[in-house]
Amino acid sequence: MREIDHPRAVRTRRRLIGAGLALPFIAWRGASAQSLRPTPACREAVGPARETPSQTAGPYYTPNSPQRASLVDPGEPGLRLTLLGRVLTTACRPVPKALLDVWHCDAAGNYDNAGFRHRGHLFADASGGYRLETIVPGLYPGRTRHIHIRVQAPGGRPLTTQLYFPREAANADDGLWQRDLEIALRPGAGTQAQAGQFDFVLEA
Ligand code: FE
Repeated sequence: MREIDHPRAVRTRRRLIGAGLALPFIAWRGASAQSLRPTPACREAVGPARETPSQTAGPYYTPNSPQRASLVDPGEPGLRLTLLGRVLTTACRPVPKALLDVWHCDAAGNYDNAGFRHRGHLFADASGGYRLETIVPGLYPGRTRHIHIRVQAPGGRPLTTQLYFPREAANADDGLWQRDLEIALRPGAGTQAQAGQFDFVLEA
């Protein structure tokens, strides 16, 4: 994904356009961009990024979730989702040990408000990277498909937001949905599992 926006790619494109080969390049770029559209994250080549938009936590946040990188137990229903990315500052620097506190409903659209099913927190690594295993949440009335998350740099203020899924029919009818908060789903997603990426940007 990142290579697409690299200056070298731009130079290559200019060369190709100059050589009359723009069409194949555009076709290639279109395919990649569609399947793995960059989130509004940092691109060192173009300067500082803006902070990830914040959104309401909604009524179902439970504090003190367990620390774990997997929010799904073996045998639990739901399409498996691997979500990975980085936590960066607006200056595109990694935020090591950033806290990511995640909660979402189950495959049937229900939140566990008594326990911690599909709830948990983890910490980014030294490069600001994180990897979360969970399921694609179900739908519940009035909302499109989404994941709630709170991201916080050590000693920083928390950013609460929600992540969305591309090409969901209910996105257009959900007043909270923002394209900038869509997960970039990787191509080749099957019926067994999906994988996606989202980079968070925090005001330094
Ligand atoms: Fe919700």
